[in-house]
Amino acid sequence: MRVVEPLGHADAIRGLWRAAAADRLSHALLVRGPQGVGKFTACVWLAQGLLCRDLAAAGAVDDWRPCGTCPSCKKVASGEWRGNHPDFLRVDPVEEGWDEIPIQAVAERSGDSGGPCVGSFLKLRPAEGANRVVLVREAERLNLPAQNALLKTLEEPSAGTFLLLEASRPDSLLPTIRSRVLEVRLGALSDADTEAVLAASAADDEALAGLDLIELAVLARGAPGEVLRLARTGALALLAAATPLLEGRGDALAAAAAVWEVDGEYQGGTALARDRGRVRLTLELLRDVLAGALRVAATGDPAQAGRGEPARLAQGLSARLGTQALTDGLDGLLRVRRDIDLNLDPGAALERALVGLEAQLGSPAGATGARRRG
Ligand SMILES: [Zn+2]
Repeated sequence: MRVVEPLGHADAIRGLWRAAAADRLSHALLVRGPQGVGKFTACVWLAQGLLCRDLAAAGAVDDWRPCGTCPSCKKVASGEWRGNHPDFLRVDPVEEGWDEIPIQAVAERSGDSGGPCVGSFLKLRPAEGANRVVLVREAERLNLPAQNALLKTLEEPSAGTFLLLEASRPDSLLPTIRSRVLEVRLGALSDADTEAVLAASAADDEALAGLDLIELAVLARGAPGEVLRLARTGALALLAAATPLLEGRGDALAAAAAVWEVDGEYQGGTALARDRGRVRLTLELLRDVLAGALRVAATGDPAQAGRGEPARLAQGLSARLGTQALTDGLDGLLRVRRDIDLNLDPGAALERALVGLEAQLGSPAGATGARRRG
């Protein structure tokens, strides 16, 4: 990946650089926040700055950025840090295709092939500059032995060494790890930053070409990294499949059939897992629309619905229905969502959710629609 300034998070990272320059930055950081907001991008930039020999050359801290020309910056920018930067180790389960991060990535063990691991890396002294950085991407994937091994390195921090743990679900980390790290929270991006990140990505990502990026940005809710996932899962088409129901003119079974026809990629090793992913995403999209409608109904402020197609649907619902019907509809969706987590058949669950919505949100097929006009 390219090393870029993390839009929306640069000031937070500069604060960490400033702390490091004053020798008061914790040696272990947990960079946490929602999936897709750019935590990993921010961590790479943070690492490049910690390793840069000339970070402060830009003057005021508001302008600090990695110089881009020192040997360390060049190695990071050229991608050599993916294994060859002597002061930068990345543990990356995404790149490796690991479901979980094994202990071999963290601790040296006799008989191992001798690939890079955190333990052996930390034994070395800085080669290029004053600092060394270990970045663990999606640290929640560290398995228990790996977490226990990592704990040992946290107990014996060495000067100039920074351990960056990036995680969307930090609850999966041991409390003993959590208690030894400084938590840095990176939140959702503003609408403008989300669109700017998307515009930059669309320029070199075929998967995004031709899509309505503003609509996708609305669905992504400040997490541009989620947009690619949404694009691949056909999220806009899923929402379109359910739109007649949300407008009170639909037939639940027809909507369910339309959901199954959407061409999308869903994560999972089995067909059942992928089906479950499709239904879960559909229910999340519907939940967001209903939640937006409830906010509008509760405040009387149409702007509470947000933007784009979900907002249009939410405003329509709040104009047509009272808070009780919206609350009941939302409760029904959340119940079905729990059933899916409990392994109920996803096809049956989807039908049940949509039949429930049809009853709550609109008139039965064939009725005159008096309720919508009333
Ligand atoms: Zn530099």
